[in-house]
Amino acid sequence: MSKHSFRTRAIHVGNAIDPATGAVVPPIHLASTFKQPGAGEWGEFDYSRSGNPTRTHLQTTLASLDGAAGALAFSSGMAAIHCVTMLLSAGDHVVAGSDIYGGAYRLLHKICNRSGITVSLVDMTNLPAIEAAITDKTKLIWGETIGNPRMTIADMKGIAKIARANGVIFGVDNTFGTPALLRPIEHGVDIVMHSATKYLGGHSDCLGGTLASATKVLHDQLYFIQNATGAVLDPLSCHLVARGLKTLDLRVREQSATALKLATWLEAHPNIRSVLYPGLASHPQHELAVQTLDGGFGAMVTFELDGSIQQTAKVCESTQLFHLAVSLGAVESLIEQPATMSHASYDAADRARFGITDGLIRLSVGLESFEDLKDDLAGAIALAMP
Ligand SMILES: *Cc1c(COP(=O)(O)O)cnc(C)c1O
Repeated sequence: MSKHSFRTRAIHVGNAIDPATGAVVPPIHLASTFKQPGAGEWGEFDYSRSGNPTRTHLQTTLASLDGAAGALAFSSGMAAIHCVTMLLSAGDHVVAGSDIYGGAYRLLHKICNRSGITVSLVDMTNLPAIEAAITDKTKLIWGETIGNPRMTIADMKGIAKIARANGVIFGVDNTFGTPALLRPIEHGVDIVMHSATKYLGGHSDCLGGTLASATKVLHDQLYFIQNATGAVLDPLSCHLVARGLKTLDLRVREQSATALKLATWLEAHPNIRSVLYPGLASHPQHELAVQTLDGGFGAMVTFELDGSIQQTAKVCESTQLFHLAVSLGAVESLIEQPATMSHASYDAADRARFGITDGLIRLSVGLESFEDLKDDLAGAIALAMP
């Protein structure tokens, strides 16, 4: 199957015909436990925390799409990141990106710190700064392939080289990139995480998280932690994510094309101070984005209004099609203000230090038409900036 294209594998790998019935969609296995061949003899499945056929189907598809030695499905994206941090012990140090998901920032600073793990936040576009932040206690570099909310692009090959030279695990959150546009294992990354709640599921109707590992050894270590701590994805959600994966490539490419058109239009708008989108020539890592992303620049667009915090909020509250909500990656477009919403869990000083300003607005571009989305934004901006 690995010879087939991404789109074909998304539909066929992990979705074998059910031998019992011929069903073209694998059945959803709700069983929590499985009858064993004998006392002390174990079948393929024994208990659903340790393994479930529906989860295995999904994990097989995920491993194929991420080009990984193995993949795991978790109850949420945060559960997946938490599993990675549980590879660490007291005294270990993490170098993390300075514009990461607010929940990842909170996990590292307000939970992992309790077990004596320390964190340094570094701009993931600055290789010398990453190298300088590494100490003899550093065990993990954690970044985002496309940063959040400033849309920075990590130089994965460069970071992977630093990680390897220092014996450090390099993990990335590829939620914004998606495996359709970007496969970090090809760039030397050890662990790839996705919030399946976003593009993989794609329809705002389930939570989930995934980890894909470059090696079997790492996969087995993460599986051990997942089984020991229990944050597995339930069978119904596994089915929803597996269904979402079948249209991932089409959705993400179409959403990315619309996002590029909106970013280009916003950049020329008189009330917009700046637009952060990797597909624009004005983006500081545009060249790297061209080399790294395959077939689109993602469907997340951040822009800064040339106005007050009240006017920014007014734009977010005035759109009709873009819903005012956190989350992203689904068929319906969303709008939010990072400073007060997705990144509210950052300390105010860190928000200021890392450019998460009050005037930023983040869009998750859905599958509606460009014309309708543009008119919706134009109307909201006109209302807020009379
Ligand atoms: C949503 C999100 C997460 C967390 O995922 P959940 O499924 O909400 O736990 C992590 N990283 C990024 C980039 C996200 O957008």
